[in-house]
Amino acid sequence: MKLDQALVDAAVRLMKSRFPAGPGGAAAMYLEDGTIVTSVSPDVLNESVSVCHETGAWCEASKLGRRITATVCVSRESERHPHLILPPCGVCQERLLAHGPDVEAAVPDPADTSKWVARTLRDLQPYYWRNALP
Ligand SMILES: [Zn+2]
Repeated sequence: MKLDQALVDAAVRLMKSRFPAGPGGAAAMYLEDGTIVTSVSPDVLNESVSVCHETGAWCEASKLGRRITATVCVSRESERHPHLILPPCGVCQERLLAHGPDVEAAVPDPADTSKWVARTLRDLQPYYWRNALP
């Protein structure tokens, strides 16, 4: 399943329900059969143990034994900006690459960071470290 507005909407919907006001975020991923899995970063008392919004959805895909095909993470830093599109961090990219370099990730449209464009992990990591291995 390719990245589309329905996946972005799922992430925004979860963010709004879990964090109705103030800062917040959420992630949504398509699995190969079209299932959408979503997650948020759990509350922690010590930021050093926090995990990304994507982590729960990534674990859910593993639990279900299905390949991830697309991912989106949204964040709201203030009420002035309804949501931003956040590309996956380096750790999340590394985790997602277990599902192949063709996984699509939403990245912010340079003209409007509340809008998205799709890029593959191959696009995000042209010099991925494993590519150097025989
Ligand atoms: Zn991350």
